Amino acid sequence: MLHRVVECRSTTPEQRILEVTPDWLEHRILAYRQKGYHFVSINDISKTRLWIAITLDDGYRDNLTVALPLFRKLQVPFCVYVTTGFIGNLQSMWWYPDQSLALDTYELRTLAADPLCTIGAHTISHPHLSQLPFDAQLHEIQTSQHQLQNILNRPINHFSYPHGDYNDQTLNICRQVGFHTAVTTNGRTVRNNYQPLQLDRINIVQPN
Ligand SMILES: [Zn+2]
Repeated sequence: MLHRVVECRSTTPEQRILEVTPDWLEHRILAYRQKGYHFVSINDISKTRLWIAITLDDGYRDNLTVALPLFRKLQVPFCVYVTTGFIGNLQSMWWYPDQSLALDTYELRTLAADPLCTIGAHTISHPHLSQLPFDAQLHEIQTSQHQLQNILNRPINHFSYPHGDYNDQTLNICRQVGFHTAVTTNGRTVRNNYQPLQLDRINIVQPN
């Protein structure tokens, strides 16, 4: 799990923790390749024994401008989970006040057009889903899926739980709307007997 890929990291700790530099990320990817890991698309997980699927949450513009050139250079597939209310900065990412960091519709289409890129949904407003009643959860999940399908004119088959937060109703909704996978944030590797709608992820944090 990644969020932002930036040349210059913020000084505030709560923002800095969401940011890695492309140089540092490149070294990490090459080191894992040397250990025998294969970088696979979220559409192809588990087809190889030692695999890593790179994912980026929220839908930052730097995923297009900084991360995509690196992933192209290394030929690494990746998935970006987009919170649709942030698109074009309709709603601000409150953890980055006064900054316009989200992809707009045109940028999202440009990113999604790359064959290495898969786009997944990440709700409309980035809520704690387990705290919402069923209907509100359904709206957040299904409408974000439909909005992305309308923008990109392709099926949206993958989902990321905001804050890694979900309950049994969330799982039922994800099943109902047909997601192939949904990812959590609980810091473990995916085991062989994994549940596709509860895929564990490891948060990748660049030291200091
Ligand atoms: Zn998020």
